Amino acid sequence: MGAAPSIGIVGGGQLAWMLAEAARRRGVELHVQTPGPHDPAVSLATSVIQAGVRDVAATQQLASRCSAVSFENEWVDLDGLAPLAAAGVRFVPDLEALRPLVCKRSQRELLNRFNLPSPAWFPLERVHEPPEPPEAAAAGGGAAAASIQAAAVASPQLPPGFAYPLMAKAASGGYDGKGTAVLRSDGDLDALLARVDPSNWIVEEFVNFELELAVVAARDQFGDVVCLPVVQTHQYQQVCDWVLAPYEAPHALQQAVRNMAASLLTALNYVGVLSMELFYGPRGLMINELAPRTHNSGHYSIEACDLSQFDLQLLAVAGEQLSEPALQSPGALMVNLLGFEHRPADDPAAAYEAQRQALSALPNAHLHWYGKAGSSLGRKLGHITVLLQQSDPAARRQEAMARLEQVRQIWPLPQRPGAEQSS
Ligand code: ADP
Repeated sequence: MGAAPSIGIVGGGQLAWMLAEAARRRGVELHVQTPGPHDPAVSLATSVIQAGVRDVAATQQLASRCSAVSFENEWVDLDGLAPLAAAGVRFVPDLEALRPLVCKRSQRELLNRFNLPSPAWFPLERVHEPPEPPEAAAAGGGAAAASIQAAAVASPQLPPGFAYPLMAKAASGGYDGKGTAVLRSDGDLDALLARVDPSNWIVEEFVNFELELAVVAARDQFGDVVCLPVVQTHQYQQVCDWVLAPYEAPHALQQAVRNMAASLLTALNYVGVLSMELFYGPRGLMINELAPRTHNSGHYSIEACDLSQFDLQLLAVAGEQLSEPALQSPGALMVNLLGFEHRPADDPAAAYEAQRQALSALPNAHLHWYGKAGSSLGRKLGHITVLLQQSDPAARRQEAMARLEQVRQIWPLPQRPGAEQSS
């Protein structure tokens, strides 16, 4: 890397914190824009602009301190930032590459446009559209007016080809299962319509996947795309619970995942890290979600790879050429530490101290504690990465499940009142 590059990051949560750690290791200045004085990245940043992540004037100030600005997450005010880009601020990835990725609806449209496999979907507002009566088009105005009138009193209807169960999702603003709802009946649909703005929601088929996979890919400004190994992810109550790396997939499947990522990045002329979450099952691979940033499914790479996802992001944003990252151990298991108790916000340093000590004492394990003020059920407070020793895939999976059990003995899964325990 050249002489002391300096990068600005909009956002100061755990992703920015881990990016700041990598920046320190690499001698890169990292300036952060984040609202809270105790946000995770504050303690490691070169400098901090204390402001909300959609505060454009603050981003302008951030840009004046660095050579390129990137984002911790996709909650970006693209239109607000456009004048800054026009005035010469270098955003990486650039704002136009981000545009189709910042909301789930435009992601689905993008995937359809590229013919990439993804769940069938429709905009929620379509349930209010009358089904097209074959005679309406032919009969002209009178029949069309009658059908609009009928729709005004008719109950919402699923578009042709869709049946329950369905998965409804907020197009923007959702994360970790917040902003999703399983619809099993007309009653569920009515209840959803009563509480949300249908223009901000999509509905998709409920996919019976066997497992979930993910990949972190990165593209540099010279057009080269590199990928971390494909991993298996496991969710608990729709929040990432653990990640097993690598997922021992047949070569063809690995290639298919990489090709999808590479074609998306290239078509968007995207520079930086992008992660892709997939369903894998009887219907093959389907892309569930794209995240234009570093991702929970890539945290294992900090210890397990010679270049982590955070290194890749720093290199790409600084305009460097990327090389293919490689595993440095046979594999890794990453377990998220989800808050399992409500804790007051006043003593973050002491929170879960006994558990943290016990986790730190586990062999071949690396604890990352985000230092968030306060804990609530299911909140991501930290993660632990265990480096696996077995080179045979079946033995390694067994080793991973045994290590997961060790972590669980110290750090239980959060139980939400009335929530079912998933497998
Ligand atoms: P978020 O952005 O809140 O993380 P996701 O779209 O990633 O939301 O969904 C969270 C989890 O919900 C997924 O990892 C998966 O386990 C489940 N899920 C999402 N969409 C579907 C679907 N169409 N069918 C079945 N399960 C789904």
